[in-house]
Amino acid sequence: MAHFRTLDNLEQEIGDVRGKVALVRVDLNLPMADGEATDLTRVRAVAPTILELADAGAKVLLLAHFGRPKGQRHSTMSTSVVQGDVEKVLGREVMYISEVSGPVVEQSLGIIQDGGIGLLENTRFWPGEEANDATFAQGIAANGDFYVNDAFSAAHRAHASTEGLAHLLPAFAGRAMQAELEALDKALGSPQQPVAAVVGGAKVSTKLDVLENLSGKVQHLIIGGGMANTFLAARGVDVGKSLCEHDLAAKVSTIMDAADAAGCTVHLPYDVVVAREFAANPPSLRTCNVHEVSADEMILDVGPQATEALADVLKTCRTLVWNGPLGAFETPPFDAATIALARTAAALTEEGSLISVAGGGDTVAALAHAGVTQDFSYVSTAGGAFLEWMEGKELPGVAALSR
Ligand code: ADP
Ligand code: MG
Repeated sequence: MAHFRTLDNLEQEIGDVRGKVALVRVDLNLPMADGEATDLTRVRAVAPTILELADAGAKVLLLAHFGRPKGQRHSTMSTSVVQGDVEKVLGREVMYISEVSGPVVEQSLGIIQDGGIGLLENTRFWPGEEANDATFAQGIAANGDFYVNDAFSAAHRAHASTEGLAHLLPAFAGRAMQAELEALDKALGSPQQPVAAVVGGAKVSTKLDVLENLSGKVQHLIIGGGMANTFLAARGVDVGKSLCEHDLAAKVSTIMDAADAAGCTVHLPYDVVVAREFAANPPSLRTCNVHEVSADEMILDVGPQATEALADVLKTCRTLVWNGPLGAFETPPFDAATIALARTAAALTEEGSLISVAGGGDTVAALAHAGVTQDFSYVSTAGGAFLEWMEGKELPGVAALSR
């Protein structure tokens, strides 16, 4: 793993932080409904970093984006909307500051005491943020003594607050960023072998690069969800009305060949759960061999026999990385395979025989549905950044912290 500075290196690099200004990039892009945040997980994730810096006496200025304002002010996308949520999670007062640079920030720093916290305005209100404009970044950096990035979820973007600032000030990974990078390194960077990867879900074409990268790195590639349908169809199986991208056959062959050459076993389901209509517990529900799917049926989950065989594969592995549910888990009983395999992985992790790392928006929801979130070694909520990491890409926000 590339080396990066963490908060453990603060004192050695910049001395006592008391009275110094920390510019801390966090993820406060909270899910909203009717103007209210519906989930504060992202705030809880960055709280340890904020409190550690504040307790050491730094003046902490939070930088974040919120929504997609495209370089203009929009009152509904002001960070002032989530100020109360941040205060609630931190249990501290947080001062909202209506700019990210200039005299307003300077004056606010005159009011904020050592150990106090300020929340700067949405960085994306200025076009310089997404353009990673040097002058814009310099304006922010002018009010800070050092920079801390605790937003892995935004690290796949080379923006001023995620990348540019790291070149202008002493830069450190926050605790959440550090935990994420350490977990990802254990999963694919320098993992204990054998490694299994589960790739499922619906976004087939956007995940082919993930499969290509994984096929050279893991010993077992377990394919489920719509992804499995696409693979089965490419191999000549009639998948009926299943979610499937039929035009990807050539790409699938390339991936199968690459896996073969690398000694990676690709696991496709041999029994499946099908129905004629996509509804909860439909009357047409049945389990069959993949070669027995009729033209008016869809594959909605991996079958019980294949799921059991996959559990046996996991028992031989030391590391698991998982993105994408095995079936349409939101609709019962098409959650069965995902729940069963997730619980096997959780039990193996608890026993200490498996390191399990998972990520992806719907994957996080599926694991929560299976009740195993706490039992996995690490569950990433980073979405796009997690997938780019699974593709083997270097994330600009992480690269800028490396040394
Ligand atoms: P993630 O967000 O974890 O990266 P995706 O967005 O790629 O995952 O896919 C998740 C979606 O895939 C879920 O909504 C799930 O219902 C759907 N899905 C999984 N298997 C199937 C299937 N066989 N047919 C239709 N949809 C499926
Ligand atoms: Mg999704």
